[in-house]
Amino acid sequence: MLRKHKTTVLSLFSALMLCSCSQTAAPLQTDNTAHTRDVFAMDTYMSMKAYGENAETALSAAEKYILRLESELSVTDEQSCIAMLNSKGSGEVTDDATEIIRKALEVGESTDGALDITLYPLLKEWGFTTEDYHIPEQSVIDSLLADSGFERVVLDGNTVTIPESFQIDLGALAKGFTSDKIMDIMQENGADSAIVSLGGNVQAMGTKPDGSPWKVSVRDPFMPDTDMCILEIQAKAVITSGNYERFFTGDDGKNYWHIIDPADGYPADNGLVSVTIIGDSGLQCDALSTALFVLGDGRAQDYWRAHRDFDMVLVTDDKRIIYTEGIADRFTNISNMEAEVLSLD
Ligand code: AMP
Ligand code: MG
Repeated sequence: MLRKHKTTVLSLFSALMLCSCSQTAAPLQTDNTAHTRDVFAMDTYMSMKAYGENAETALSAAEKYILRLESELSVTDEQSCIAMLNSKGSGEVTDDATEIIRKALEVGESTDGALDITLYPLLKEWGFTTEDYHIPEQSVIDSLLADSGFERVVLDGNTVTIPESFQIDLGALAKGFTSDKIMDIMQENGADSAIVSLGGNVQAMGTKPDGSPWKVSVRDPFMPDTDMCILEIQAKAVITSGNYERFFTGDDGKNYWHIIDPADGYPADNGLVSVTIIGDSGLQCDALSTALFVLGDGRAQDYWRAHRDFDMVLVTDDKRIIYTEGIADRFTNISNMEAEVLSLD
């Protein structure tokens, strides 16, 4: 059931910076210094903030891990296990890559193939990997689609096998996995609390140092330089897929974006312009943000009703915000769009 509910809290807005996460209250702990580290990896600006006397050690360990993951998962670095798998058709991948592939196949299965890690050749053809954009010929789309399908990826232990013409890419899940790992590293190294933003995808450990929830803003897909809503979170990931993140305008004047619908090989255009998933696991949230974007408004709502182990904020192409009841008291709409709560009854 959808309940209409419009809220606007301007006082919050002035306290927030135009970034995906921010702090408003003065920390009460003894060591209230924010230690920060910025890293550019996986084609993404990553910023990390940690608190506590072990913060610097934790940040250094996290930075090292990010660079390691980048070299393991890159599709362009010939030495990476993913690039080697793509060129040979079979190969041993790292434990991290195995975990990501396992989740990708699981979510591919549960979303009727909306998440499909074998679309890499098609993404290349559209130019999303090189920024050399163009609308492919229908016959090319048809033949590349015929040579794709997540169900033909075989995972046996750490060994992955794909058909000869196939190539995989973990771009839809890699950042969520990375933020999970950063949280683990922060914990293991004894940081008191931490928050990371990987190109706008946020994950937090615990609360802010003063014990209050982190405030995370989500962008307005119709005005991507502006925030649309604020979420209050503790120890959660907040991961968004949107049509504004990477797109080009074709000769026909239409916009074409980077999330492909495996049903027809075109950018997914099923009623949604952005999907934000809020949950415990960054990997799960990242997989679902992409998959539910593809499924579209109605099927994304059905998926949430059937699973309910996450919350979400959907934005429809007719400018409505739909958010699930689990975050209703932690959601503040600061846009001029109408926001509706999605509940089970
Ligand atoms: P995200 O920003 O997490 O939604 O991931 C988008 C990226 O995932 C794209 O840039 C592509 O590399 C890849 N991708 C696009 N469409 C799909 C899809 N249907 N299934 C899996 N990966 C996709
Ligand atoms: Mg994703």
